[in-house]
Amino acid sequence: MRGANYRGLKTVTMKIGITGCAGRMGRMVAVAVAGTEGCVIAAGSEAENSSALGQDIASLAGLPACGARVVADTAAVFRASDAVIDFTTPAAAFAHARLAAETGHALVIGTTGLGPEHERALQEAAKKTVIVRAANFSVGVNVILGLAREAARILRDDYDIEILEMHHRGKVDAPSGTALALGAAVAEGRQVSLALKSAGARDGVTGARKPGDIGFAVMRGGDVIGDHTVVFAGEGERIEIGHRASSRVVFAAGAVRAALWTKGRAPGLYSMRDVLGFTA
Ligand code: NAD
Repeated sequence: MRGANYRGLKTVTMKIGITGCAGRMGRMVAVAVAGTEGCVIAAGSEAENSSALGQDIASLAGLPACGARVVADTAAVFRASDAVIDFTTPAAAFAHARLAAETGHALVIGTTGLGPEHERALQEAAKKTVIVRAANFSVGVNVILGLAREAARILRDDYDIEILEMHHRGKVDAPSGTALALGAAVAEGRQVSLALKSAGARDGVTGARKPGDIGFAVMRGGDVIGDHTVVFAGEGERIEIGHRASSRVVFAAGAVRAALWTKGRAPGLYSMRDVLGFTA
């Protein structure tokens, strides 16, 4: 599969567990694992009330059966896997981080919308095992994170920064984790705190834009997988750095790449920047 076939992969053998394996992303991860040499689908879990329980994980994803069936016992998924890939809900991802720490098995978390209490749990769990967390596992998005950070550093406060995102009508959190990651990247480039500079939805008589604000605008509708644009609006010119995902496979391929990367790493909380070796 494109994006997963990189140097050294042929020598790697990894058993991958998938939590939320019947979800939109979970099924895509099953496809990516099955299509990556040296990887096998070891186990997968779903929520206790899921109608997918007992079904073959690969069949759910439209692939030939792999023999591993969907269970509700996520601890068993960790025990059966070298690394677990999680695209679920914040509450579930929080519980899965604890299981990763207890079993010492690696965890790749793609779930977004995590609150401060979940963040603390991740930091704690990462003292005992390898955790890779990314708001967006697409290699392309990680490239624009680096470009946006660098542009913000060079353009400074002379340019107003606005971050636009659009997702499908079913998305429950806003702004998207990727939009927030882009906000953090431009704040880092400007050497300011995003928490202090972030400007959310504008409505009514808001007054003029505050200098230095990092604005966010959100759209929801249809089946849009994920569009993000960072706008740098200056006097006489506007720069836009954008990314449009047309298939969830890009996130799944990146998550599998991260899972392979965990092999032999020291415990810690890592990002796609670490996985891809970005220095910018
Ligand atoms: P989805 O609702 O289609 O799938 C989530 C699945 O998790 C469901 O099948 C649900 O039953 C299951 N689940 C819930 N609780 C569980 C539990 N305790 N144990 C096991 N399974 C459980 O959602 P989705 O579109 O696949 O997105 C999932 C998450 O991934 C969201 O937070 C989304 O924003 C995020 N996401 C991240 C990236 C990325 O690159 N980081 C890309 C796409 C989506």
